Amino acid sequence: RFSTAAAVEEPIAPPVQVNYNQLLINGKFVDSASGKTFPTMDPRTGEVIAHVAEGGIEDINRAVSAARQAFDEGPWPKLTAYERSRIIYRFADLIEKHNDEIAALETWDNGKPFEQAARIEIPMLARLMRYYAGWADKIHGLIVPADGPHHVQVLYEPIGVCGQIIPWNFPLLMYAWKVGPALACGNTVVLKTAEQTPLSALFVSKLLHEAGLPDGALNVVSGFGPIAGAALASHMDVDKLAFTGSTNTGKVVLELAARSNLKPVTLELGGKSPMIIMDDADVDKAVELAHFALFFNQGQCCCAGSRTFVHERVYDEFVAKAKARALNLLLDPFKHVEQGPQIDEGQFNKILHYIKCGVDDGATLEAGGGRLGTKGYYIRPTVFSNVEDGMRIASEEIFGPVQSILKFKDLDEVIRRANNSCYGLAAGVFTNNLDTANTLTRALKAGSIWINCFDVFDAAIPFGGYKMSGHGREKGLESLKGYLQVKSVVTPLKNPAW
Ligand code: NAD
Repeated sequence: RFSTAAAVEEPIAPPVQVNYNQLLINGKFVDSASGKTFPTMDPRTGEVIAHVAEGGIEDINRAVSAARQAFDEGPWPKLTAYERSRIIYRFADLIEKHNDEIAALETWDNGKPFEQAARIEIPMLARLMRYYAGWADKIHGLIVPADGPHHVQVLYEPIGVCGQIIPWNFPLLMYAWKVGPALACGNTVVLKTAEQTPLSALFVSKLLHEAGLPDGALNVVSGFGPIAGAALASHMDVDKLAFTGSTNTGKVVLELAARSNLKPVTLELGGKSPMIIMDDADVDKAVELAHFALFFNQGQCCCAGSRTFVHERVYDEFVAKAKARALNLLLDPFKHVEQGPQIDEGQFNKILHYIKCGVDDGATLEAGGGRLGTKGYYIRPTVFSNVEDGMRIASEEIFGPVQSILKFKDLDEVIRRANNSCYGLAAGVFTNNLDTANTLTRALKAGSIWINCFDVFDAAIPFGGYKMSGHGREKGLESLKGYLQVKSVVTPLKNPAW
């Protein structure tokens, strides 16, 4: 085990090339209308990986009109559900075939550990696509027993052209959560990827076309939020918008959707999720789980367990062991390690600022507290104890490897404090007591409650937030509801006796 600066000073050359760096519109890779490009960086070094076509308003217009035509004239929504399903299944097979190549591209552009990309994220992308392929031919309507002599059918139809805006922290899982249900339901899509991580979506979208996706059914536009993202959110010909990112940007896109054509919007936004450790917990296991809940993906998870509440009876032991665990974390994404660099300079500086806030506000810095090495965006795994609710590190989303450990005395107190947040995305609970687990499950205001586990992201489990963590749910049956229009059909019955 090593976690020295030397490990991050000699980056390994990624075993992959960038083959696709243009926009994908109507089944073809094309330059942006303006001819502009932007650089995408390796977070290990801050060096340019590739220049990528920069989508602007005209490119969003071109992509939406391709998606419109593909929706109105087909063939995608007009294929049988079984044919659509088979294409998505073939896509999953191609993802598996190219697993390590996709993982290397993801690690290069995002900085996440290669082993995690290759063994967790890319297999999960294939799994999610198979899950949605399985739904494609099982979406059907209802016959409703209405009062009176009427035959009533409820039909579920695809909603139309879907605008989708995704972040950089899990580029391909966000892709799967959005593109999977939209296509399975027979919609067409314009996807705006995050400017920090444009590469992997282009690569896999090429595979999706190889699997048989017709032109125009999925269009991918790389570019910046306030230009390409805003053009998509406010487009009059987009029928639905799905967004994942920060709460502030979520408010912006909701307003753009309302001011344009009132398109329905689903939002997956930020969080400040509690991880509650009760006094009956095995402290070693609790430390490991709380560590994973916060540090996984360099702390860049919307549902990160970023408020670690620990019962006072086990608090001191927990803090000592959490500190030791953080000091033992392994770094550098292409080596056999646990933590890579943060995504970019902006997030890196934001996290360092929050670490300073923690010190200034009087929390005790137990481990980390600064950058690692001199190149790229590595931050030492950081642990604060004696954190109070009002401190900025305990109330604002940091999105980095900074663990805040708070002390509590009893169940009612921790419920009140855990719920005292504008967010409600997830919560973790660590206890052997069934009554305690049941009480917390019902009392906590969050879209996901993980009991004695964390970050379990099965394709079938719905995910989404209460309060300012968002609207709607992704994954599972719930996710299909955001991509379907509901039509009620009423026919009088001539002879109700039969
Ligand atoms: P962001 O909200 O700025 O970006 C997310 C996506 O929205 C990107 O594709 C971006 O280009 C786009 N976007 C930005 N401004 C836009 C606009 N005006 N109109 C339309 N689209 C726009 O988030 P970020 O800067 O990438 O990350 C910052 C914060 O976002 C993080 O600290 C974290 O709080 C949050 N975040 C949350 C998640 C999540 O899964 N919930 C994921 C990533 C980031």
